[in-house]
Amino acid sequence: MSDTEAKLEDESMVYKTLLESTKAIPWRIHWDSATFSYIGPQIEALLGWEPASWASVQDWADRIHPEDREWAVNFCVAQSQAGVDHEADYRALCKDGSYVWIRDVVHVVRREDGSVEALVGFMFDISERKRTEQRLIELQRELEALSFKDGLTDIANRRRFDAVFDEDWDAARRSGQPLSLLMLDIDYFKQYNDHYGHVQGDYCLKMVAKALEKAVRRTHDFLARFGGEEFVLVLPETDAAAARRVAVRCQELMAQEWIPHERSMAGKAITLSIGVGTVVPMPSDDRLAFLELVDRRLYQAKQRGRNTVVSADG
Ligand code: GH3
Ligand code: MG
Ligand code: MG
Repeated sequence: MSDTEAKLEDESMVYKTLLESTKAIPWRIHWDSATFSYIGPQIEALLGWEPASWASVQDWADRIHPEDREWAVNFCVAQSQAGVDHEADYRALCKDGSYVWIRDVVHVVRREDGSVEALVGFMFDISERKRTEQRLIELQRELEALSFKDGLTDIANRRRFDAVFDEDWDAARRSGQPLSLLMLDIDYFKQYNDHYGHVQGDYCLKMVAKALEKAVRRTHDFLARFGGEEFVLVLPETDAAAARRVAVRCQELMAQEWIPHERSMAGKAITLSIGVGTVVPMPSDDRLAFLELVDRRLYQAKQRGRNTVVSADG
């Protein structure tokens, strides 16, 4: 062996040692025959498959999760054909049947004439990163859900109401169906707090929310805490007569719940005053003006002695 040959052999040993001692798994695919000409022995530690079992590109494709396989194979083949370096994340099948998230980083080796000679790449184990990502997505979802929920009563909050009411308003304008809205306010709640204390007041608000939830019968009916001791009920595709019946039902539900209120001047238990409005929104209609109309009816209900429903027909 000449000096040069010996030097070359030394160098290639250095590269091989380096390649096979990293955590990333190196590999090489001969393009024309679609076969692996090399795969790092580390693959066995990660996936359980012996290096010798990675013979053809098909072996690689077969060991991709069925849900990831089609796009991963199509994407990698298309990029390789176009001579573009690329990376793909997919779940690789382990010998024991489990899956590991892999990031495959691929370099396309081309001949002088531009044709593809080989692909060389590294597979990285990214399962930890994927777990963190997944957890973050879940946390984000939880956070979003929390931002739409009233912390005390567990029903939707004002922010969620604004979003839902906007959507329902637009849907009603498109469909020409009537949209109804109930505003419900607890009677003499200040006196309730003064007499029973704020903690009991909070508990009372929870009970009222629970009772009102029973009035939500159809999938698109929607209850929210509007603020303080005020609630709103949105009833899509509901005309004035049906909306009034729902309001009366809310009063009945409160009567059934029977939350004693010694200081009320409207009865011996917690009662509600309710304003009801119904609209088939026209493009020129303003949703805020409609909310104000319903709020005025609620105010009239208070003036008429409370524990009362006021709607368009009285
Ligand atoms: P009306 O019959 O006219 O509705 O009188 P009211 O006493 O119910 O109405 P008012 O607006 O004067 O008082 C509302 C009270 O609701 C005052 C406030 O302390 C109480 N309140 C609002 N939010 C909460 C809450 O989260 N917890 C408790 N405990 N009380 C609340
Ligand atoms: Mg009140
Ligand atoms: Mg109020």
